[in-house]
Amino acid sequence: MALHSHTACGNENVSFILLKLQSQILSINANETKQGFMHNPLPITPMIINQHWLTGCTRLPSPNCDDRTDPADISLLVIHCISLPPGQFGGPYINQLFTNCLNPADDVYFQDVYQLQVSAHLLIRRDGECVQYVPFDRRAWHAGVSSYQGRERCNDFSIGIELEGTEQIAYTDAQYRQLAAVIRALLAYYPSLSTQRITGHSAIAPGRKTDPGATFDWQRLWGLLA
Ligand SMILES: [Zn+2]
Repeated sequence: MALHSHTACGNENVSFILLKLQSQILSINANETKQGFMHNPLPITPMIINQHWLTGCTRLPSPNCDDRTDPADISLLVIHCISLPPGQFGGPYINQLFTNCLNPADDVYFQDVYQLQVSAHLLIRRDGECVQYVPFDRRAWHAGVSSYQGRERCNDFSIGIELEGTEQIAYTDAQYRQLAAVIRALLAYYPSLSTQRITGHSAIAPGRKTDPGATFDWQRLWGLLA
């Protein structure tokens, strides 16, 4: 993804650009590795969590978050998908949506969503690039009205991970491998999480949400986490 300026929003700063460059270097290394070992890709470098932020991720703080009711209760992972405009990948628009910078003049679809105050903790792009918007001990605004095993308001106790994609198009190899690396780091850091407590948005908001969709291969994720 090309660097874009936030002249209106002012989110870009030196540390963000440095993190971005670091992330791009990691991404280039991952691509080289993939080309060299197409049938036996090496695992992505293990990720580390520091102060509730993932290392190796682009960091783009979102204002769309608040305190969890219990900051120690981080006990569910929710998988989503998003693309802006729908079905198009690689633009700056997801970052802009999650930082309240989306310009409604850029696409007719944006007129319906640009005023939403939403976020996720993480986005994993088609090339595996990871962006973090909210530290994990804060509440991101991703699930909406939701219920998991009888408990409502899943934002209170969950981490939301967006995959750049749609419910009609297969997710990429890089996304599955990066997702598995992220989940491994989260499982190691937050003791209340487990592989049994990973779900899709559609499962906690049935009838209202359908992501990540039938194109998300859960068996493949379980295999990568085994
Ligand atoms: Zn969702």
